[in-house]
Amino acid sequence: MRFFEERRRLVEELKSEGVIRSKLVEEAFLHIPREEFVPEHLRSYAYVDTPLPIGYGQTISAPHMVAIMTEELEAQPGDVVLEIGTGSGYQAAILAYIVSKGHGHVYTIEIVKELTKRAINNFAKAVPELLDYTTFVIGDGSKGLEIFAPYDKIIVTAAAPNIPEPLIKQLKPGGRLVIPVGNRWSQVLLIVDKRRDGAIRIRESVPCVFVPLVGEYGWSKESEYLY
Ligand code: SAM
Repeated sequence: MRFFEERRRLVEELKSEGVIRSKLVEEAFLHIPREEFVPEHLRSYAYVDTPLPIGYGQTISAPHMVAIMTEELEAQPGDVVLEIGTGSGYQAAILAYIVSKGHGHVYTIEIVKELTKRAINNFAKAVPELLDYTTFVIGDGSKGLEIFAPYDKIIVTAAAPNIPEPLIKQLKPGGRLVIPVGNRWSQVLLIVDKRRDGAIRIRESVPCVFVPLVGEYGWSKESEYLY
């Protein structure tokens, strides 16, 4: 009850700030218990609008950033979505809630094996009914996930130095990719549309700060991915 009230208050805040704009995203935020996706000792901060550590040097993104990215992605019931950077599983749960309304699917890929295990546990506790609509994969998502391509939407929740070419290839014509691109310390959220004729249109959304996307098309672990 306490968490539900806090969740509702946060949703009202994000609506009044113009961050949550659509009914579907509002519903998803009200439905998914963020407190189940943060470490036990941080549960009381679950509805503070801030990123929180989830172990392995990684974070669950701030609620406003999850909302901005979800709104920009324009995920629809029935969509097939690829998420790169499962982390806690919270963003995947928000998306699974939306796409499940039309029997769509979320594929989510994470490079840190332990985090995938935790994300599956979080789902099983918080939203077991969404497990049927979600596939968890361990691997380097900077290359996308060829085996289940093409996707209606792709969302990258880690900072990339550039837009990885395989992600464009794995997007359906008419599809959309949302990805933070920049250096280690600051990025811009890019909205990349692949038009039906295959042409690519890129729009800049908001400034943001994400942990780095590592891997073949991301920052190399050795380079410290700083500049
Ligand atoms: N979406 C997550 C959530 O809802 O909790 C937050 C993601 S966190 C900001 C970024 C995640 O991207 C980290 O868990 C990190 O391990 C992962 N990551 C970084 N590089 C990756 C790669 N090449 N492939 C897959 N995951 C990657």
